[in-house]
Amino acid sequence: EPILQIKNLVKTYPNGTKALKNVSFEVPKGAFLSVIGLSGSGKSTLLRCINRIHEPTAGSIFFEGQDITHINEKHLREVRKNIGMVFQHFNLIDRRSVLNNVLMGRLGQLNDHFLGGIFQKWPEEWIADAHEALKIVGIADKAYVRADGLSGGQKQRVAIARTLVQNPHLLLADEPVASLDPSTSYSVMNYLRDLNQKRNITVVCNLHFLSLVRDYSTHVIALRNGEKVFEGKPTDITEQW
Ligand code: ADP
Ligand code: ADP
Repeated sequence: EPILQIKNLVKTYPNGTKALKNVSFEVPKGAFLSVIGLSGSGKSTLLRCINRIHEPTAGSIFFEGQDITHINEKHLREVRKNIGMVFQHFNLIDRRSVLNNVLMGRLGQLNDHFLGGIFQKWPEEWIADAHEALKIVGIADKAYVRADGLSGGQKQRVAIARTLVQNPHLLLADEPVASLDPSTSYSVMNYLRDLNQKRNITVVCNLHFLSLVRDYSTHVIALRNGEKVFEGKPTDITEQW
């Protein structure tokens, strides 16, 4: 059974922009699916509909066999514990320590909105897990540094560590390396691949550079003006996308 099924998904923003037009596809469990397309083609909207930051206008989303398109807030919070998210601009809490940011992952998935009610006292076991996650992404020594004191690549590794402690079944990554330089990009992509291969976390990743798509993904879809215009293997993509 696919981990994710998208059926006839439509998203029309309140201003009338049709960002997604009848998009359907499935994501097999364990896949590393890249979503490609020019800026404005609907990639980000797609991920935001999947984790319900945005409400789809029509169509349906099945996660682990369950229709999550119209579930209530309480149920959504449960589902989101199993869906991690990594953003282009990292979405860390600047004035908090790196360790604190990673610990936030244990509270379940973060979204664009500020997550209210920060824990003041974290369980010892969670703290140990957070240190371990920081070790895995190679920045154990930054645990007590403020998040805004890090470089872009380091910030994205903190975001990945935050996902590691969340231990989701599905990870959504929205242009995770778009604001990083090429060598840092490869390092961050390698950590995403480890998550996918060593922890069996299915990944859906918006990417712009075709070289990264070819190097890292197992499946690809392409969007153009909100429509799915390609679905296949990375080796089948031609430069025209
Ligand atoms: P440039 O023309 O300066 O290389 P582009 O952003 O058009 O800038 O392309 C950069 C890289 O992204 C190239 O490798 C290109 O093949 C790839 N690319 C271009 N358009 C897309 C797209 N819609 N989706 C994914 N990759 C793309
Ligand atoms: P991509 O991630 O491929 O760059 P987006 O999903 O961000 O594409 O955008 C798809 C289309 O929806 C674009 O035309 C964009 O301008 C529009 N759009 C994105 N977010 C909003 C919004 N909150 N309100 C209105 N239009 C939006």
